[in-house]
Amino acid sequence: MMKQQDTFRHQGMRQRMVDELRKKGIDNSAVLDAIGAVPRHCFLDSVFDARAYQDIAIPIGDGQTISRPLTVASQSALLEVFPDARILEVGTGSGYQSMVLDKMGAEVYTIERQRNLYVKTKALFDSFKSRIHCYYGDGYKGLPQFAPFDRILVTCGAADFPKELFSQLAIGGIMVIPLGFPKQVMTKVVRTSETDMETSEHGDFTFVPMLSKKSG
Ligand code: SAH
Repeated sequence: MMKQQDTFRHQGMRQRMVDELRKKGIDNSAVLDAIGAVPRHCFLDSVFDARAYQDIAIPIGDGQTISRPLTVASQSALLEVFPDARILEVGTGSGYQSMVLDKMGAEVYTIERQRNLYVKTKALFDSFKSRIHCYYGDGYKGLPQFAPFDRILVTCGAADFPKELFSQLAIGGIMVIPLGFPKQVMTKVVRTSETDMETSEHGDFTFVPMLSKKSG
């Protein structure tokens, strides 16, 4: 995918989307600033240009979708991002959520199980000269070679709690993960010790399912 131009028209639509998210209850200014800065239309096929700044999920190919902006904002706020935080994202998809976290100053590692999406999004990151670390693989396994992570963000719906990811979370770290099937409850997990966690629930969402690695 080619990076598209960010025109004044896009910037205006994006500012209105930020205002809409604020009205819907997002009050984290670091999150709103990042969403205001990342050109969401560049992460979508150009046929969706007019809808890129509506608060809706949009198809990105291979049966997947870019999450709606309200979901991206909610997850990013729950994650309590800090500058240079090492973050693992599961489900690169379009790359939009990774770029929002990158804009917030985090060091982002992201993993995608669909090869087509991985290849397409890696090329897009390169066209942005982005420092995001992008991998093809199974998010259930995470990226143990780069652990521990300060934060882990899962952007697909997990039917079971991924224990291998928990082991890659730093003690004191936060994981935000939509848990359940077919619908998910947004769950925030704080790792309080080697073996313990505290969890809290943050509303109902619907995500594409988190699946084990498939070939191709
Ligand atoms: N964060 C993405 C959201 C994409 S939808 C964005 O901003 O666009 C969720 C993504 O999770 C899909 O691309 C899907 O292929 C991917 N996914 C599903 N199961 C996975 C797994 N086990 N490991 C890694 N990625 C997975």
